[in-house]
Order: sequence, then structure tokens, then C-alpha cells
Amino acid sequence: MTLIPGPIDPPARLLMGPGPISAYPSVLRAMSAPLVGQYDPFMTATMAETQQLYRGVWSTANDATLVIDGTSRAGIEAALISLIRPGDRVLVPVFGRFGHLLAEIAERAMAEVHTIETAWGQVFPVSVIEEAIVRVKPTVLALVQGDTSTTMNQPLDEVGPVCAKHGVLFYTDATASLGGNAFEADEWGVDAATAGLQKCLGGPSGSAPITLSDRAVEVVRSRARIEAGIREDGDASADDFVRSNYFDLGMILDYWGPRRLNHHTEATSMLYAARECARVLLLEGRDAVIERHRLAGAAMLAGVQGLGLEVFGDASHKMNNVVAVEIPAGVPGDAARAALLEDFGIEIGTSFGPLHGRVWRIGTMGYNAREDAVLTTLAALEAVLRRFGAAVPAGGGVEAATDAYRVGRA
Ligand SMILES: *Cc1c(COP(=O)(O)O)cnc(C)c1O
Repeated sequence: MTLIPGPIDPPARLLMGPGPISAYPSVLRAMSAPLVGQYDPFMTATMAETQQLYRGVWSTANDATLVIDGTSRAGIEAALISLIRPGDRVLVPVFGRFGHLLAEIAERAMAEVHTIETAWGQVFPVSVIEEAIVRVKPTVLALVQGDTSTTMNQPLDEVGPVCAKHGVLFYTDATASLGGNAFEADEWGVDAATAGLQKCLGGPSGSAPITLSDRAVEVVRSRARIEAGIREDGDASADDFVRSNYFDLGMILDYWGPRRLNHHTEATSMLYAARECARVLLLEGRDAVIERHRLAGAAMLAGVQGLGLEVFGDASHKMNNVVAVEIPAGVPGDAARAALLEDFGIEIGTSFGPLHGRVWRIGTMGYNAREDAVLTTLAALEAVLRRFGAAVPAGGGVEAATDAYRVGRA
């Protein structure tokens, strides 16, 4: 006999890792709203509203602003597979794990991929990126903005103009950074950008906001056109053809655009979630939300330093919303994380690659970029560190974070 489990009943958790994070309560409520049909006027109106809201989030006038159904990497794949023709040269500056992901996806899109690398914990000066552009002559530059694996935030404001000067299409993965750090799609000359909901936007994973400049749309539109399974331009070469149906941005644009050509069935509950994430962000104000992340991040940083812990990476380029903390000598990193989860219901993150076993990553994002969440996490971390024999100043974390909030608000 099959044992039927009870209804879903997750434990109370405060998600303070590098993502996913606890969603805004109103996002969870939005997701439980009733479903409507794919072409119900309410549905198409909600799609249009969501597009308009995300133009505000990205700071763009791009008509081609929408959400891809799937997690953040669905957005990355849609952008790269639709913008890259087999054999195109693609330049990927790598400063952490997600740079390697962009290189891998570009490789799968059959690009000729060139990478440049910098040490983990650093970002690229724009001059180094320009030098590589001149040498490689890529069609596309694919660059992560905030890489949670190292906590670094790559400055992008001068990258767009450099790309425009050399005729390069500029794509960026802003999954970890959007909403918690500045992003100015139009002002910075970004041609394509993608994100996810589960970082600073304060939703669950499963929807990937994307925005495309007119130049990017032109490239997408220059690919072979397929309608209702029939190729429209029979003489196009095989390389003109986007090697995915689900991620063919030309088809996705026709579904979201005025023609409303059937493609996938837009994931209704995720659309509600994406809409609510953008709505609460714009209601609070984009700058106010970024400032809230800045303050929470500064307080968490001061707090871990107040506990006597070292912070990893170039502090002047750290994202607002995540900090990498060196695990003190003698403290078993995984056991301490498990104690935080089991005894306090608080999740913090482990690390990848060269940082594995060396740092924890603590996030302050979206709904959890709040003073009470910061202080609770620091108090619990102090207790756990003490339990594992680390000598930490009593109350040092909470006090330093409280001070940071007081100074930051003054
Ligand atoms: C977290 C993160 C992702 C996550 O991708 P998913 O498919 O949503 O798991 C992608 N890119 C960056 C830079 C991230 O920080």
C-alpha cells in the first residue's frame, strides 16, 4: 500500500543564504490567485502590466521586456541561444562560477568562446575588457553583473559604451544583483539582460525577467522564422535557425507581442509572482529598495566583523546583498551551518570552487533585507560559533550591526 504523505507543510525558515531567499508574503499570496485561460483578456492584460512593471525594474524603455518561464538560467539560455549563431565569437570575462556558466551555455550555442579571467574576489577594470574585445573581436560580450559565488559586483556603466564603440552586443546576467544594486539598462547601453526572482526581487525561482534592446531584437528577428511549425524562409541556412523551440526569443516575442501567436502556455502562477515582485519593488521605490539592501548589507558586514570574522574579496566592489565570511579556524563549517538551520531555522550558504570549505555566504535580500532578519542571524551565528569553541566578543555582532543601522539612517 502506498503511504500518502500529508499536505505540504514546510518548517519555518529564515533564508539568509545567497538565494533562494524567503519570498515577500504578498508574492506567495499572489501565487494562490485563481487561474484564467491563456488568452483570457485578464491574462493578456496581466502580461502587459508585468512588461510595463519590469521596464521600471530594469530602467528601460525597451519594448521587448518580458519574463521567460523557467529559472534564471532559462533566461540566460534564451538570450544566448537566440543571439548567438554557431561560429560567432563570444567573449566571457569570468570572475566567478557564473562566468563559467555563461561560457558553457555559449559553448552549447556553438559559439567560438573566448574567456578572460581574474582572481576570485576581484572585478575587471573596463580597460581590460576593452583590450580583450579589440583582440578577440567578438559578436557578443557575455558578462555577469553580480556573481554570488564571489559576492563581487562588476561595474557595467562603462562596458556598454565600449561594446557600442566596437559593434559588440552586450549581454549581462543580473540574476543576483537586480533590485538590490543599481541597474540602468538604457543608460548603460545594455543590449540584453536576464534575471530571476529568487534573489533581491524576493520571489521563488521559476520566472526569468528579460529585457532586449532594439539592436538585440533585430538580431533575434534576423534568425530563421518559424510559424506554427513551418519554416517561413525555406532557403535560410541551418545556422540561422535557433536550436531550441522553447527558448526561441523570436517566437516568444510573437507570443508576448500584439500578434499573440501561440507558443508555450505562460506559467500563470509564476506570472502573478513576477508581477507582484516588480509591483512591491516599484511601490517602495527602486532607489529606496536599493538603499534598504545597501543598509542591510552594510549592517551584516559590520556585524560579522564585530564577531571578529574576516570578510572575503574586494570590499569596494561587494554586492549590497551578500557577504562571504571566512570560517574561523577550528570551526567545522558544515556542522555549524547545520546547527544554525536545525536550532534556529536560519539558512546561510556554503561555497563553490576555490572557496569551498573556506567561506560561508550570508545574504540580505528582498524581503529579508531587514534589520530584524540581520540581527536575528547575527545573534544565532554568535551562539553557534561559541558552541563550536570560537572565541567571539559577546554581543559584538548585534551591536556592530545596530550601530551600522543607526549611522546609515542618520
Ligand atoms: C543565483 C544565480 C543564478 C541562478 O540560476 P537559476 O537557474 O535560477 O538557479 C544565475 N546567475 C547568477 C549570477 C546567480 O547569482
